[in-house]
Amino acid sequence: MYVKGVGPARAEILEGKGLRTVEDLLSYAPFRYEDRSNIKLLKSLAPSEMATVMCQVHTVRSSRFQARHLGLLEVAFTDRAGGKITGKWFHGGYLANVLVPGMNVALYGKVEFDSYTRGLVMMHPDFEVIPETAEDEPEAAALHTGRLVAIYEAAGKITTRVFRTLLHRILTTLAPVADPIPTGIRERLKLLDYWEAVKAVHFPPAENDVRTLNAFRSPAHWRLIFEEFFWLEMGLALKRAKARQARGIQFSLHDGIREKIKAMLPFKPTGAQKKVLKEIAGDMASPQPMSRLLQGDVGSGKTLVAAEAAVIAIENGYQTALIAPTEILATQHYFSIKHLFDRIGYVTVLLVGSQTAGEKKGIKKLVAAGLTPMVIGTHALLEEDVEFARLGLVVIDEQHRFGVMQRRKLSEKGDTPDVLVMTATPIPRTLALTIYGDLDTSTIDELPPGRKPIATRSATEERMEQIWAFVRQQVSEGRQVYVVCPLIEENETQQMKAAEKTYEELEARTFPDLAVGLLHGRLKPAEKEDVMGRFQRGELQILVATTVIEVGVDVPNASVMVILQAERFGLAQLHQLRGRVGRGAHPSFCILSTGKLTEAGQERIRSMVESSDGFHLAEMDLKLRGPGEFFGTRQSGMPALRIANILRDREILEIARTEAMSLVEHPPSEQELTRCLQFIREHWQRRYGLIEVG
Ligand code: ADP
Ligand code: MG
Repeated sequence: MYVKGVGPARAEILEGKGLRTVEDLLSYAPFRYEDRSNIKLLKSLAPSEMATVMCQVHTVRSSRFQARHLGLLEVAFTDRAGGKITGKWFHGGYLANVLVPGMNVALYGKVEFDSYTRGLVMMHPDFEVIPETAEDEPEAAALHTGRLVAIYEAAGKITTRVFRTLLHRILTTLAPVADPIPTGIRERLKLLDYWEAVKAVHFPPAENDVRTLNAFRSPAHWRLIFEEFFWLEMGLALKRAKARQARGIQFSLHDGIREKIKAMLPFKPTGAQKKVLKEIAGDMASPQPMSRLLQGDVGSGKTLVAAEAAVIAIENGYQTALIAPTEILATQHYFSIKHLFDRIGYVTVLLVGSQTAGEKKGIKKLVAAGLTPMVIGTHALLEEDVEFARLGLVVIDEQHRFGVMQRRKLSEKGDTPDVLVMTATPIPRTLALTIYGDLDTSTIDELPPGRKPIATRSATEERMEQIWAFVRQQVSEGRQVYVVCPLIEENETQQMKAAEKTYEELEARTFPDLAVGLLHGRLKPAEKEDVMGRFQRGELQILVATTVIEVGVDVPNASVMVILQAERFGLAQLHQLRGRVGRGAHPSFCILSTGKLTEAGQERIRSMVESSDGFHLAEMDLKLRGPGEFFGTRQSGMPALRIANILRDREILEIARTEAMSLVEHPPSEQELTRCLQFIREHWQRRYGLIEVG
């Protein structure tokens, strides 16, 4: 990129922000706007309003006498009409060299009335130094004042003012870029022209309203947000269309299958399970390969549906592979599916990293020879030397912990097998549309009958004794209890240590007379299996665990879930953990023990106590933590959006999706479609990273 004013030093800073090309810079959206067109005089300000004022630094004073060590910086400002206001910054010492008497600045902040000095103050206002009209660019002053002004997030030494200047330069020297969105759509939605929109987002026209701008709803914002979603959804729609063109396996749905399924089922499927099975069977019977997402709240019975789908594949002479992200989860699936398949004489095998080389070799041989219709495992399944004789169905559990590449790697071990993705975490619709937009969706929206609601309570840590007394009482009634230890972000070792400490305390002091077990991710597989087995058989009454038990664990007699420092968990995760109880006939309880609560923490805990609906909680979680954090990991396949925001802009997302789908399904012309494909390849593939189009 060559732009006047961007030397190597600035280029490096910009690159750190992911701004490499002129196009990147143009799509670097301001986060806020100020109306500096009609600047108020200081004397007309009213307390508690948000205001921008243009003034001059009068005096700068560091004072330490009020509160020791605070280093309060007080700057007195005046304006041309003789008004006065004081700006105050705690720890503001560093500003003493920035704000010097005589300097012109724009101040933005909340006006307050100081009853002690009887004057106006702003606490920690944002400010922008307004230099004397710079000699090198006489137009400069007109960019930064006297108009609606865009405020950018600074990048290192690149201030909002520098961004404004750079963007102005680019916009005035670059020839307008042709609008890439197909004309039909532009006309139907009355979209602002692309170049006009880009200009207006950075330099809003005078007729814009500052509130509309700050709500990201000016015509220019609408247009650019739409555009971002549109290309994303186009990419997904094209991918989806491409997948559907491929020829897959056309499974036949014969009577033998119905009988096998009937013989396998230990209980009557729910209406919702029947409905989704029908959707899955429909896909499997069609010649196109299936790409379907199976969603359902915790305990809704997804495993059973996956097993039914596997029966279809197996009765057609194909193998099924099920992959799960952790060994515990894979093992759980292995046991519950083996339990079902033993009844109908299918061999089920497990392949995980911790098995001995000899064991693995033996299993791989069987798989390659086609002697094992059902293969369950972890990443170990993805290894080069795992070969299937006839892989027809791939089931992926907990997909968002797998990369798209891994999904593909497993599929490639067969000849265009059908793919069923299961998520244990309900995903809000907007997220599902952006991440899984290329998949068809089936939702199990009903729990198996007889589920008792789980009573959820929260209690502060001071009441731990009461909690343990309740645990003891439940155990005396024959129940079992999980105790989940605090989540320590990204640090498995610490989390394990915390779990060990809790375990030692409970086992030695609180419950010396009870059988307490410990489960965490660092145990050897055989140890894990041993602990889980003992808990499952009721030999352990209390299981102290880390989040390894988050998914898959199924012990109906366990009726109490105690979560320590519950405020550290995300909502979706708490809901998953809670889903480990309430699986049997006994009244069940979830107790959230809490430490210091932030406001957001408080809200999460309250949501948990009040709601048991996984989809509702997922929406709340998304709102409280934002899309980036939703899955707890950054590499969740979330595309990096520049101006669009899936929370704020969900209605625009829906429109963009509809338009993209209909364009791919009924393109106005082949050329138009080809042009769009080309455009995505050139402009959006890099940004969306994983999303690969045709
Ligand atoms: P999910 O994976 O969706 O969280 P599971 O497949 O683990 O749920 O099922 C949860 C529990 O409900 C299991 O114990 C399972 O055996 C049981 N279950 C599933 N379907 C039914 C049904 N139709 N009727 C009764 N119990 C069921
Ligand atoms: Mg499950």
